[in-house]
Parts: sequence; structure tokens; C-alpha cells
Amino acid sequence: MASSDIEARTKRQRDRKTMTAPIVVDRIETLRAQVARWRAEGHKIGLVPTMGALHQGHVSLVEEARKHAARIIVTIFVNPAQFGPSEDFGKYPRTLEADVEKLATVGADLCFAPPVDEIYPKGFSTRVEMSGPARAELEDSFRPSHFSGVATIVAKLLNQAQADVAVFGEKDYQQLLAIRRLARDLDIPTQIRAAPTLREPDGLAMSSRNVYLSSEERRVAPALYGALREAARRIRAGEGLGAALDWGRATIAEAGFAIDYVEIRHADTLARVKNSHDGPLRLLAAAKLGSTRLIDNIAV
Ligand code: AMP
Repeated sequence: MASSDIEARTKRQRDRKTMTAPIVVDRIETLRAQVARWRAEGHKIGLVPTMGALHQGHVSLVEEARKHAARIIVTIFVNPAQFGPSEDFGKYPRTLEADVEKLATVGADLCFAPPVDEIYPKGFSTRVEMSGPARAELEDSFRPSHFSGVATIVAKLLNQAQADVAVFGEKDYQQLLAIRRLARDLDIPTQIRAAPTLREPDGLAMSSRNVYLSSEERRVAPALYGALREAARRIRAGEGLGAALDWGRATIAEAGFAIDYVEIRHADTLARVKNSHDGPLRLLAAAKLGSTRLIDNIAV
């Protein structure tokens, strides 16, 4: 390709990027003013809450939101309230500049990236406590204050953005069900939509935390999904739930994981189930490779 052609193409790419670069705002008031302008113009608004360190999984949520709304807000906020005292809040990856660049390529319109004191100003005194799916004895057994932190921030973000639709990933399945419940219980009119889990070619669910894995751990990591898939296949083939779970747990442990849980639950409520006719069913797992905790889940 002639260098003038390359220059022209680079310019086109740059122009396209510039055209779609999101507005970056860090104040609730600015967010609200922009939302009001879009509303006055008659646009539907979509919201995608994230903690940043964006990957293709996040991008797929933006694409899903764009199917339902003309203006898309992506929030980037590492929410201290959902991390336990011994968890990775301090070292959680923060890559705002790269995140904004990524958002420019997918046509997000606004990136809301507030500082902690904008969300939790001095004197902040409210915490949303949930039961139901947030107390299913899955993630909540290992991260006791996690869902109240999630519920608090999500209630705030939904109130701040007043979006028509908000998209959450099935990757965090218990969180997705808890948020659906939260929106219903608090009469928040935003429609909650789910998006499927995006995976690396070897099956590992994409996650901002995958960067913590050593190269040896990264090699082993897809075994979690592999075991869930095979356990689901066994259940569909008629194997009893207990036997399939035992097989799954043994396989995941043998691969080198320290298991927090490998469970099968009702897909809508996360209630315990006795046999495969109690469905629809969902297999859910959390396990550590070294110090990195991975979660995954699949439909049966
Ligand atoms: P996070 O930034 O990890 O808090 O995730 C923000 C949103 O992205 C949540 O709704 C997650 O469920 C979703 N998400 C995270 N990983 C994936 C993935 N691999 N595929 C689809 N959605 C994802």
C-alpha cells in the first residue's frame, strides 16, 4: 500500500475514533446534565456499570446496550464497598486511559469515572442489604459484605443515570440475579438485561483479574470451564446431580484449584435443587489458583 494510502487510512481511523470518543465525566451533576440533554432530544439511554480494566467482555455489554438505546453510558468505578478487608481493592487494575480508548472504538457516548469521594462523600451513611439471591450461600459465603456493596453502588448508579436499560454480564451470575431483584424491590424503572459470558479461545472466561495469573496458572485456568461443561454434559446425559458434582469437584481440584464452591442451583432463584427436573439449572463455581480467585458458571 502506498504511504499516502496508509496516511489516508490512518487519518480515517483517527477521525472515526475522534468522532466516537466518549465524553469523560467525573461528577454526578455533569452526568445528570448530559442525560437531561439526551432525554430532551428524545434518546433512549443505556448504562453499563464496570470497574474498568476493560476487556472484550465489557465491550460486548456495550454492544448489547446499543441494541436497546441510542446513547450509552459506561461507568468505571472500583467500588471499595464491595471488597472485603483482605481482598484486592488496592491492587485492582486501573487503566482509565486505555479504557477510554477502547470505549471510543465501540461507540460509547459517555464514560462516568468518578473519584471515591464523589460517590461516598463525607457523612455517607446508607447501605443496601439484600437477601434472596444475594444470600444463596454461594459468593456470599466467601465474601460476606460483597453484595451489600454491590447493591449500594448499583442502586446509586441506576439513580444517577436514570437509564432506560442497564446491561450486566452472566459472568457474575449471582450478581445479575441480585441486581434484577434489587431493581424490582426498589421500584427502579431501568430495565435490567443480561449478556452472555465472553471467553478466551481456550474457554477461560474473560476477567480483569486474569492479569494476576502467572503463565503456569494461565495454562491451568481453562480447566475450570472445561470441568463445568463436562459436568453439565453428564447431567444432560442423565447422570445424577450428586455424581456429576463430585466428578466436577474432583477434576477441578486435580487441576490444581483450591475450590470455594462448585454447586448446581435453580437458574432463576439460585435455590437448591434435588434432581435435574427441578430446573432450569445453573452450574456455578469459584476456585483459587494461587492467590487469584476465578468464578464461572454455565447453563445446564
Ligand atoms: P467488572 O468490571 O468485572 O465489575 O464487570 C462489569 C460488568 O461486566 C459486569 O456486569 C460483569 O458481569 C460483566 N463481565 C465481566 N466479565 C465478563 C465477560 N467475560 N463476559 C461478559 N460480561 C462480563
